Amino acid sequence: MSYAVIAIDNFFCYHTIMADNLMEKIVALCKRRGFIYPGSETYGGLNGTWDLGPLGTLLANNIKNEWWRSIVLSRDDVVGLDSSILYHPKVWKASGHVASFTDPLIECKICHERFRADHKKDISEHEKMHDKQKWTEIKPFNLMFKTYVGPIDNEENKTYLRPETAQGIFINFQNVINSTRVKIPFGIAQIGKGFRNEITTGNFLFRVREFEIMELEYFVKPETAEEWYEYWKKERLNWYLKLGIKKSNIKLAEIQKKDIAHYARKATELWYNWPFMGFGELEGIVNRGDYDLSQHAKYSGRDLSYLDQDTKEKYLPYVIEPSVGVGRAMLAFLLDSYYEDEKRVVLKLHPKLAPIKVAVFPLLTNKLPLVKMAKDIYDNLKVKINGMIAFDDRGNIGKRYYSQDEIGTPFCITVDFQSLEDKTVTVRDRDTTKQERIKIDNLSLCLTNKLY
Ligand code: ATP
Repeated sequence: MSYAVIAIDNFFCYHTIMADNLMEKIVALCKRRGFIYPGSETYGGLNGTWDLGPLGTLLANNIKNEWWRSIVLSRDDVVGLDSSILYHPKVWKASGHVASFTDPLIECKICHERFRADHKKDISEHEKMHDKQKWTEIKPFNLMFKTYVGPIDNEENKTYLRPETAQGIFINFQNVINSTRVKIPFGIAQIGKGFRNEITTGNFLFRVREFEIMELEYFVKPETAEEWYEYWKKERLNWYLKLGIKKSNIKLAEIQKKDIAHYARKATELWYNWPFMGFGELEGIVNRGDYDLSQHAKYSGRDLSYLDQDTKEKYLPYVIEPSVGVGRAMLAFLLDSYYEDEKRVVLKLHPKLAPIKVAVFPLLTNKLPLVKMAKDIYDNLKVKINGMIAFDDRGNIGKRYYSQDEIGTPFCITVDFQSLEDKTVTVRDRDTTKQERIKIDNLSLCLTNKLY
């Protein structure tokens, strides 16, 4: 082996270790600090499920709120929806999911382990285990979880847990038009649970069997679809950049026609630079054409076309869909914000996402006036920052700072002896560790400016 090859091998080896380490560190931190626990851990775990702990719930809510704010609340052309998870069985026939929501399945004939045939890395890893590998033919495997509505388990009552929320939007398209004043172009957004019986799960929150998904279906005139497709690609990329994802770790990738889903005319993926695979899908942005509305019109026998009140033109709109899993986005934000040096571990989360915005400490815990003043500040700020605040009076002050750094708290307030004299406190910045003295009377304004 030449030196060059050894050098390249070492390079990959080094980076693989670094990458694996980062995932291990994130998984361990999430468990230790109450972000994410393995699902059903008490019973040995249930593959592909994870439970959000106290901090994980806050982080997920902040991600969803930021998405909702940017997609719905800050715009005049998008409304929200919260449809049921169970839909009429015909929905899934019409949408093409019964026939085509499949992944290619391949089984090892020796140990009967099953894989996704298009996950080449897993396949070649497995081939190293057996001397003479034998695979079955590739078969399509439908990813939808089956269930029965009502007390009779027969074909007629069989439906599926939704694998995405989009169909709930399409089947309410006419309801929204008839009950609101939306006009094309407009969107309907929804955040909700989706279920996919993935052939293999893994990489923590990246591929799971139950997850929340944030989806926008944006309805446009067919001839403007291309323009809006480009618009949403930019919007969505900017959303991640504004929330702190490093520019070098995210990019748009146009998907080739042969690789796109049955309903899509065009598809782009927002790729994140995952430590376990390099650049890969974080979010999908798809031009679905009029596929869904025309299928539902056909299967339901209803006219789902849109009537332009001004021009009296009647047509089936095209749909542009950005769609992302809350957990997959959360994993990207966690990985991207992780920082460590000799002294401390920090999640440099954007203040809007940080689960705890501010922590308040009395310098010493046995000095009653300090504790009282700190408690008063805490109570006052708690209302102003929607409860996302912590009070800590354990151990020494340095440890308290590091403990907050590790969960991404942007600011720590310390009440010290000077505070009793001049009614000021120190405010420490998580990223620079610099402290400034601020008047207690100005605290709330100053912090809300920094945070929001
Ligand atoms: P993949 O190719 O990774 O299986 P997909 O192309 O099937 O994903 P979409 O149907 O486009 O994914 O789903 C939209 C988004 O939902 C994805 O970009 C991802 O953020 C999220 N998502 C999809 N499947 C999962 C899953 N099993 N676990 C977590 N998130 C998921």
